[in-house]
Amino acid sequence: MDGEQPGKARDSGERRRTEENETRLRRTTHAPAVDDRFSVPLRGVAVDPETRCAHWDDDVDVVALRFGCCGHFSPCRVCHAETVDHDPEPWPRTRFDEAAVLCGVCGATLPARTYLDSSDACPECGAAFNPGCRRHRDRYFEE
Ligand SMILES: [Zn+2]
Ligand SMILES: [Zn+2]
Ligand SMILES: [Zn+2]
Repeated sequence: MDGEQPGKARDSGERRRTEENETRLRRTTHAPAVDDRFSVPLRGVAVDPETRCAHWDDDVDVVALRFGCCGHFSPCRVCHAETVDHDPEPWPRTRFDEAAVLCGVCGATLPARTYLDSSDACPECGAAFNPGCRRHRDRYFEE
């Protein structure tokens, strides 16, 4: 977290500083660049520091998923589509023991198998994951 700077705040600058904070928190990254706030190569649209994005923005939307096509992470498929120029491929079953999920809360990377076996929470920090993701897991993980 950025520290406040007590004494520098003035009422007239309140709105402008808020907008600057929003811009800093939400970042859109297009290939070939990656979002350097994360320990893994990640791209997305309006990504916040916990990997929520323009499309999935609830408290529990705090994972980024790795794609089989490029091996990069994105918060969701729409993010992938809007930031690269190739079609998505799910994470391959032969690589389920490799890190394929990023917890946006603690920064842990989870093997695909660990994520799929988890009970919708991060095994490292306990953060709740969106249970609704199970409905479209076949888009992200090879069946
Ligand atoms: Zn890709
Ligand atoms: Zn997205
Ligand atoms: Zn975590």
